[in-house]
Amino acid sequence: MQSASSFAPGRVELLGNHTDYNGGVVLSAAINLGISARGRARADEKIRLTSEGLSGVVNGDLETLAPNDSWADYPLGVAKVLHDTGFPVAGFEANFSSNLPLGAGLSSSAAIEVSMAVLLTRLFNFEVPPIDLARLCRKAENEYVGVSCGLLDQVSSIFGKKDHAIFLDCRAETVETFPFPPGVGLLVVHSGVKHALSGGEYNERRDQCFEAAEILGVPALRDATSEQLAAAVMPALVKRRAAHIIGENERVFQAVEHLKDHDAVAFGKLMRESHRSSMENFENSTPELDALVEISCAQEGVYGARLTGGGFGGAIVALVSLSLIDNIAKTVEAEYFERTGHNGKAYQCLIGDGALVHE
Ligand code: ADP
Ligand code: MG
Repeated sequence: MQSASSFAPGRVELLGNHTDYNGGVVLSAAINLGISARGRARADEKIRLTSEGLSGVVNGDLETLAPNDSWADYPLGVAKVLHDTGFPVAGFEANFSSNLPLGAGLSSSAAIEVSMAVLLTRLFNFEVPPIDLARLCRKAENEYVGVSCGLLDQVSSIFGKKDHAIFLDCRAETVETFPFPPGVGLLVVHSGVKHALSGGEYNERRDQCFEAAEILGVPALRDATSEQLAAAVMPALVKRRAAHIIGENERVFQAVEHLKDHDAVAFGKLMRESHRSSMENFENSTPELDALVEISCAQEGVYGARLTGGGFGGAIVALVSLSLIDNIAKTVEAEYFERTGHNGKAYQCLIGDGALVHE
């Protein structure tokens, strides 16, 4: 039977924090760490999955698949969604290997979904338009695994392009890529403090954003400007939350212009502004993330840094000069430990290609 392989990268959110559920825009990048899948088609409807570094073989049958709280729910969900959508998926065997840390905010979940999806297109010779592939992977995570996530992670893993930022309009579901100036890389530093997005804070922020949109009389905060917000009367806390989202959308559009001007310095400045807004307006930062951003921004060769992802713990991302990244990583880890007593973990990343570019 036919055999094939695939690779899908993790991603980092660069600007556009919490904009997704506000109909907004976001900039991300795929990184050079990710998940590889290798497999072969079978003549029956059986599925057999293994993952290096995780014990156990997971067996399934396409006709009777149901989630069971295992790591394999992510790839099995993708197989089921593709099958149920009408693509010619039959039984198969696949093994995953990864150099992407799990749960570090680099979206290993999207990487395993996308690596599975692309592997299946190759094993069973069918094509799916890239944006639809992203939507189907998201559907698997939302409906099969039961995790509500936006489209950014899957889009980034699919559309990523070496040394490019990915622009996603969450409302229109359109994607564009813009090149970075040469010689920049990304340093992702995990604070060692687990992110607890499931907590009430996330839902509270959502509700406050929706409340602000309602007061402003717009369908979503995407449709409001800073000027409109400044002139509006609403509770001070809700106004600050809205200021973050509206500011983030504006920063994303400004950042695109800076990329067109090959200006990494101006891009980095927006990242620092974004973090400040997280601290002051959205209050989704933590003292650990603040320390990491401050320490990073004080290093030579760092253009800017900010928290990445949901916040309330997790990781920061810094845009850095690649020639200095090694030194920056070591210094940030050391100073962070000295200041907070936490072991931060720095991941040096190149901006890499998405899954469809890898053969
Ligand atoms: P992340 O922020 O990395 O996306 P998630 O909790 O969303 O964290 O997804 C992590 C899940 O993805 C794991 O619990 C597991 O089910 C799956 N996963 C990630 N990497 C692997 C891997 N190498 N092998 C098997 N499953 C993986
Ligand atoms: Mg995830």
